[in-house]
Amino acid sequence: MNNAAKIPFLDLVTPHLELETELVSIFRSILRSSQFVGGEVVEEFEQEFAQFCGVQHCVGVGSGTDALRFALIAAGVRSGDTVITVPNTFIATTEAISQAGAWPDFVDIDERTYCMDPRKLKEYLEMRCRIDPGSGKLLNRETGRPVTAIVPVHLYGQMADVDAILDYARRYKLMVIEDACQAHGAEYFSDNRWQRAGSLGVAGAFSFYPGKNLGACGEAGAVTTNDPLLADRVRMLREHGQREKYHHQMEGYNGRLDAIQAALLFAKLKYVPEWNEKRRRNARRYNELLRPAASVGLPYESRLTKAVYHLYVIRTKNRGELQAHLSQASIATQIHYPIPLHLQKAYETRGYKAGDFPVAERAAEEILSLPMYPHLEYRQQLRITSEIVNWVLKRRTQEKNPLAAAPATLPRLVSGPPRMDN
Ligand SMILES: *Cc1c(COP(=O)(O)O)cnc(C)c1O
Repeated sequence: MNNAAKIPFLDLVTPHLELETELVSIFRSILRSSQFVGGEVVEEFEQEFAQFCGVQHCVGVGSGTDALRFALIAAGVRSGDTVITVPNTFIATTEAISQAGAWPDFVDIDERTYCMDPRKLKEYLEMRCRIDPGSGKLLNRETGRPVTAIVPVHLYGQMADVDAILDYARRYKLMVIEDACQAHGAEYFSDNRWQRAGSLGVAGAFSFYPGKNLGACGEAGAVTTNDPLLADRVRMLREHGQREKYHHQMEGYNGRLDAIQAALLFAKLKYVPEWNEKRRRNARRYNELLRPAASVGLPYESRLTKAVYHLYVIRTKNRGELQAHLSQASIATQIHYPIPLHLQKAYETRGYKAGDFPVAERAAEEILSLPMYPHLEYRQQLRITSEIVNWVLKRRTQEKNPLAAAPATLPRLVSGPPRMDN
């Protein structure tokens, strides 16, 4: 057995202990005001988060799922539309599309970034759609449904290739709503400047679920946009379709951000740049320490993006074995996500089959998320990575000579770019 201290997949306790005094005093002041829903506190956070993302407007809502759903509806997605996204994301992305009345449909991902592959998007638009001569609308050839929007997901804190996606969106008059639920502060170099996740499409959706890069002490989310009318519609949607109490312009939802969460988020937001830097530092350390494990694929970050490493995801053909090996060494890992959405029971009736999105399917079998959080320590990373390197070496020796024992020492660090598995 192994007596080493367990390395958790996520440490939410340490950052909250560090901020305990500050957070408790915030809670106390909201308790004393008893202004629990709406009010100045919510608006202050909205302004601050809009500024953080580099947009004009931010509307706080109840969760990331609310944010996606409201953004889609407010952008103009209608019942019967088709909305394009990727199969390897959390189901909230497609739930929101369905709940807005539309059909989610998928295009495959890029092998390196795990985000939407613009070439696959092009293929979908050119091969699977046609333009209706009467209405000028883009229709899916098979279903006849209008295709109206694209939801790229900035998965693991990596930016999707937004410029290429926006290009096709303009060409085909599609709306782009960014699922930025894992990408608070991630950046993309476009138009000669660094732009943040949530500021590139017509709207961005953020989650403040506790484990996200900015997490509430409960459920919360936000929509970001530069369009004042879209922001206004999201404000109505979150509050039963009203601008003024009991004057309902339409039916909406109960999807508000509450004041306690807003105030706690306001306090935590100022630490996010530092926390993201620490995540990036930890990713660099992993990259360096994992170089001897040459058969393990490492995250890819193009020079035009700055990832915020919500997750640090590696890749290997023998994922199950590596995960078991790490678990034996008291190191917790997870898989994001083990079953691509098109193969989930929830979408059984849609007729997708294995082989439809081969890149996402292969990824689902090979990816492994390592512990990643700002407070992860160097010595913990050393332990994690030496377990991985040991496992790789042991495996290699066994493959060459099934009877040979594992080598006792690690090889020297070799330099060169991180290599992919295949
Ligand atoms: C977390 C997450 C969501 C949903 O956010 P909730 O706040 O849990 O509703 C949506 N999309 C992605 C990619 C996420 O990671």
